[in-house]
Amino acid sequence: MNYIEKLIDISEGLTYSVKTYGCQMNVNDSMKIMAVMNECGFHYTESVYESNIAIINTCCVRENAENKVHGLVGNIKKLKESGRNKALIVLGCMMQQEGYAEEFMSRYSQVDAALGTSDSAKLPETIYKILTNSERAADLSSATKEIDENARPFRHYRISEFVTIMTGCNNFCTYCVVPYVRGRERSREPKDIIYEINELTAHGTREIVLLGQNVNSYGKGFDEKLDFSDLIQKISDETDVKRIRYMTSHPKDLSPKLIDTIAENPLVCKHIHLPVQSGSTKILKQMNRGYTKDDYLKLCDNLKSKVGDIILSTDIIVGFPGETDEDFKDTLDVVSRVQYGSAFMFKYSIRTGTKAASMADQVDEDIKSDRLQQLLTLQEKYTKKTAERYLDKTVEVLVESTHTEHRNVVGKTSQNLSVALESECQVQAGDLLNVKINEIKTHTLIGKII
Ligand code: SF4
Repeated sequence: MNYIEKLIDISEGLTYSVKTYGCQMNVNDSMKIMAVMNECGFHYTESVYESNIAIINTCCVRENAENKVHGLVGNIKKLKESGRNKALIVLGCMMQQEGYAEEFMSRYSQVDAALGTSDSAKLPETIYKILTNSERAADLSSATKEIDENARPFRHYRISEFVTIMTGCNNFCTYCVVPYVRGRERSREPKDIIYEINELTAHGTREIVLLGQNVNSYGKGFDEKLDFSDLIQKISDETDVKRIRYMTSHPKDLSPKLIDTIAENPLVCKHIHLPVQSGSTKILKQMNRGYTKDDYLKLCDNLKSKVGDIILSTDIIVGFPGETDEDFKDTLDVVSRVQYGSAFMFKYSIRTGTKAASMADQVDEDIKSDRLQQLLTLQEKYTKKTAERYLDKTVEVLVESTHTEHRNVVGKTSQNLSVALESECQVQAGDLLNVKINEIKTHTLIGKII
């Protein structure tokens, strides 16, 4: 009898929850966790506080996310004492940091197990041992090895679904823990990706978002020469998917071939998330990003001129060690020149184990807050301006939902802008509609079908 079968015998009436912090890769890992837990016979509940088995999938990319995990684990202590919580498992990037899991478990006696990233396959054995022997364990042994093709995510078969194509990173940006906690780049075989997408489209999915820490590195290490552009072509040829998105693209690896693919393949959405992180060449060098301000601006110009109606989004860190007012002005300059449709903007926070953590000239919190505010204000102007570009224009919308709180029909344009219809109409999720935009409300385009 394997551990899944053993758990089916004892899981009757027990509920589980999965709380996820961090990026889409973590969201996808949590879907794999849900698939395993459902297979073991546990019932899903959204509330951590009502569940008998609480699983926390952590992120260590920013300090804020880590603090939330500590707070949540602290709150679960009382549930453990009352007997409602029977197992508390903390896994993911935070635990994967060297020596962290052991220390975490000795600090919080309510935590029963600590596992690494992509460790869903270990859950049945771990949970069985907790429930039957009260056995506590930290096991980070397999988290950065091969991608486990047997671990498939639980699917809602939404109109838009994520599909992981690669994991890990070789870049070692000096502020980032990902290469340490997710290991080096590993790409999935195209046949496994195609199989997964065909399974999704057979159940109604119309759009896929290809996920990887750096999708532009896809295929490195394969015997057959096959890069990210080739993968996109294969997906276009061998599946029925209607739209293809992807994230994240490292600017230094965005090849002219990929730009041509974005421009020429009608299934590829005309939106790209291209993290700049800083506008200052000096800071980019200290971040080990592998491009200069000029390189980045040329790349954006090239994308805009070749693809036409494309929207760019980005990630920006303010207050990286050594960032002066002049460096920050360069960042503002890039934002003004690229005119992003949206941006994720953060204050730099020290991540233990990274090179930047020990750099001199750490920037004062007050200065970081002030710069972040300036940046948010500037970006808001361009987010608004981007949406306004579509007033009185007709856009193609993929309907994602027909029942939302405020509007009847909501979908997305190829450029990743949200669109709502101004009046009720008979359409279905998955329909592709031409919509004339008449109004903009808090970044949502509003229009009617033509
Ligand atoms: S490219 Fe840089 S920021 Fe992105 S995951 Fe790799 S090391 Fe981290």
